[in-house]
Amino acid sequence: MREAESRPWDRVRAAASSKRNEARALRRYNRGRPSTPPMIQAFHVYKQYDRESVALADVTLNIDKGEFCFLTGPSGAGKTTFLKLVFREELPSQGQILVGGRNVTAIPGGQIPELRRSIGVVFQDFKLLKRKTIIENVAFVLRILGVPAREQKRRAFAALKAVGLHHKMHAYPLQLSGGEQQRVSIARALINEPMLLLADEPTGNLDPEMAQEIMRLFLDVNARGTTVVVATHDRDMIQRMGKRVIALEKGRVASA
Ligand code: ADP
Repeated sequence: MREAESRPWDRVRAAASSKRNEARALRRYNRGRPSTPPMIQAFHVYKQYDRESVALADVTLNIDKGEFCFLTGPSGAGKTTFLKLVFREELPSQGQILVGGRNVTAIPGGQIPELRRSIGVVFQDFKLLKRKTIIENVAFVLRILGVPAREQKRRAFAALKAVGLHHKMHAYPLQLSGGEQQRVSIARALINEPMLLLADEPTGNLDPEMAQEIMRLFLDVNARGTTVVVATHDRDMIQRMGKRVIALEKGRVASA
């Protein structure tokens, strides 16, 4: 986050004497700000899993709506932890995270599923169900949500079409190449038309050509309005893409 922006919040935060006061102060602080908040706002976020290691330390940054950016840094720098905080798989030890203007560190447990439905997540290892066909894998989320079967099929087909794999909808994951499996997992992440797509080392298991294809897909998704954040340590790819790079080092923002 840029210097000038972080300073006022520092004052607000210093005046807050407790965590609860801090959350309240943050709401007041944002009230006077433009009505379209950034997609992700992190304010002095710390995450410590155990006594020995600090995964994130004093991370303050903004990612705007519609941005495409990379989160980079060596292994252990805190990339995965940051993404987990954004979709509320973990809670910060200190600090606040807002997603689409909502303070995800303070939302009640019952609202977490709704938050997660608005965020698509793509992992390095695809996480596809081997015994289900491609279209079943993509439709699975909708089934859980109780969407009628016809609607599930229609939306899953459309998502598969968007990643160019509708012709393989009845195949099983292991019958596809790594790049194709990753495209299926992207279709699954897009099924709810998320406002935000988070990808954690999405090309880590792919050869450069397939990795390039996945990046092209992310660019398409981004062009249709979804904010995209890709965690990777692949410097060549980052350089080729020419997008914003947020670099983490030992849990701290080294550059943003
Ligand atoms: P990156 O994604 O950049 O490789 P991570 O966010 O996975 O980094 O990890 C940051 C630090 O937090 C590392 O030191 C890692 O060992 C530690 N860490 C991550 N997850 C856990 C966990 N569940 N329990 C304890 N330590 C963890």
